[in-house]
Amino acid sequence: MDPKFKRTIVTAALPYANGPVHIGHLAGCYLPADIYVRYLRSSGHDVKYICGSDEHGVPITIKAKKEGITPQAVVDKYHKIMGDAFREFGISFDIYSRTSSRVHHQTASDFFKTLYDKHVFTEQVTEQYFDETAQQFLADRYIVGTCPKCGNPNAYGDQCERCGTSLSPTELIEPHSTLSGSKPVLKKTKNWFLPLDKLSPKIKAYIESHSDWKPNVYGQCKSWLDSGDGLQPRAMTRDLDWGVPVPVEGAEGKVLYVWFDAPIGYISATKELLPDTWEDYWKSKDSRLIHFIGKDNIVFHCIIFPSMLMEHGGFVLPDNVPANEFLNLEGDKISTSRNWAVWLHEYLQDFKGKQDVLRYTLCANAPETKDNDFTWKDFQAKNNSELVAIFGNFINRTLVLTHKYYEGKIPAANTYTKEDLLVLEELAKAPDKISKAIEQFRFREAVSEWMNVARLGNKYLADTEPWKLIRTDEERVKTIMNIALQISCNLAILGEPFLPFTSKKLFELLNMQPLRWFSAKQTNNMAAGHTINKDELLFSKVEDTDIQVQLDKLQKSKAENEAAKPAPAAKPETSFDDFSKMDIRTATILEAEAVPKTDKLLKLLLDTGIDKRTVVSGIAAWYKPQDIIGHKVCLLVNLAPRKIKGIESQGMILMAENAKGELSFVSPVKDMENGSVVK
Ligand SMILES: [Zn+2]
Repeated sequence: MDPKFKRTIVTAALPYANGPVHIGHLAGCYLPADIYVRYLRSSGHDVKYICGSDEHGVPITIKAKKEGITPQAVVDKYHKIMGDAFREFGISFDIYSRTSSRVHHQTASDFFKTLYDKHVFTEQVTEQYFDETAQQFLADRYIVGTCPKCGNPNAYGDQCERCGTSLSPTELIEPHSTLSGSKPVLKKTKNWFLPLDKLSPKIKAYIESHSDWKPNVYGQCKSWLDSGDGLQPRAMTRDLDWGVPVPVEGAEGKVLYVWFDAPIGYISATKELLPDTWEDYWKSKDSRLIHFIGKDNIVFHCIIFPSMLMEHGGFVLPDNVPANEFLNLEGDKISTSRNWAVWLHEYLQDFKGKQDVLRYTLCANAPETKDNDFTWKDFQAKNNSELVAIFGNFINRTLVLTHKYYEGKIPAANTYTKEDLLVLEELAKAPDKISKAIEQFRFREAVSEWMNVARLGNKYLADTEPWKLIRTDEERVKTIMNIALQISCNLAILGEPFLPFTSKKLFELLNMQPLRWFSAKQTNNMAAGHTINKDELLFSKVEDTDIQVQLDKLQKSKAENEAAKPAPAAKPETSFDDFSKMDIRTATILEAEAVPKTDKLLKLLLDTGIDKRTVVSGIAAWYKPQDIIGHKVCLLVNLAPRKIKGIESQGMILMAENAKGELSFVSPVKDMENGSVVK
């Protein structure tokens, strides 16, 4: 830690209050920030961990409309769910506030007014869609119409969710307002813009003075600054009725842009926490500001917020922004709308008392330099093969043997062998290795160095085998067990940032008050003669059945998503002549058998009314041969024959296929003679 800093403010991105928190959020910023903060606290550094719910913006108003409740009711609900889950997971915020608070509204409003009075903003009149029935301007999401690309009649003004095309409301065919259904009209409106183009040289100098930032963050900032058009002015106000009202004349019906007010939330939350001393943290040169975020927020924290702070004056600027990449789930992007996620509040229910297992897995797999994947199999392996088999096994052996041989009293070490000295030397090096990794935001490396200490202990016991030696050399065993206990104690100290629940429990088992980080540089923290508490297992195995429950849950989401998928878009127009070239007849299945060495195909004999013929059909997953004999189907009889698995197939049975890929025969509702023409 750079000694010029006396204080640190650590912020984690304000989570958006229109849904609960999932593992992608945790791995992106809340967990790494928590590890960082816990490490600084343990090192005796003055640090404050600031966060809160982001409660403004259009998506919250849309959710409220959909559910027929007020925006305030939406944010109240999620503020509580998120706050409770974070707390239970051991995210050790000093304050978890919210942007609908009075302090925040006042702070954000004053901040805007200061910039306004300093003539920082430019005013621009633009044309925006307006709903004349509802008498209000419409955010892009409030406008729906037909997608010009795929014909989806429910495309939004910013995106078509069927074909994924980004749109602007002007591109929609027959746009209408979701508020009143009326056709929106373009109307002039004035908004206040932050002239990032003009501020660009200052921002550039600021970014370039931080070339030590993580390459993914620095690189992204540079590419915005240096790309073709460079930075563009951005509107800092919106025509909306949910948010912080714009505090200037002529701005009725407008609120601050949610990305203007949200980062100010870090300041207002600090104010709330420290009404008398918050300025020591935000306005003093020996204070350091660090934003933990996910990569989608880089522009707001590295460019927009610093510009706001610079133009306001008096504030420290972010000293580092260690943004993470994204975490995927079982090989697929985490998605709230598709319910493809592991929700924190559900995890805490399903895996009671296992917070540290998820903390460990997410840290060991953190998407620090590239997107990464969370899988339940890997979660199970991290628990069973590392936390249980290495760390847990070492601690358990040490505690059990101490009770067995010495009734829980720590034996004194006598003569150290060369092997002992090497182990102690290695142990003493661990805190610096872990510190260095944490201070450089390399949390994966840090947690793996910690696990290496457990490996060291586990190997030491396996090599020295005190359980055998006890029969021949009791004195030697005392030294071995003393060393094993010192390793256990240092594991408790060094593990606290990563596994706070386990560290606390381990200190309890060792019958000790928690020790600070610097103590781990010593290898004699446990005095001979001190009595430890009765042993208890720190971790238990995660069984296959536990994992299957989670996989089933995801499978269910997948099935529901597929069922909810809109029908595929219509094909291009065809002519009646083209259609009438197809000779489709009703037919009856006379015989059916599986085609050997395949699991999809059935060989069918059909009576078509014209003849009896063989058809091979890929329906084995949906129909058993014995169930379909006598079934009436429709058959394309003039399809050119072709050989499938050595059998000549003469025609094709008509099947309906749904979004899940399930197949069903298409059959006449009324009994029709074989050979009846389908037209
Ligand atoms: Zn589309």
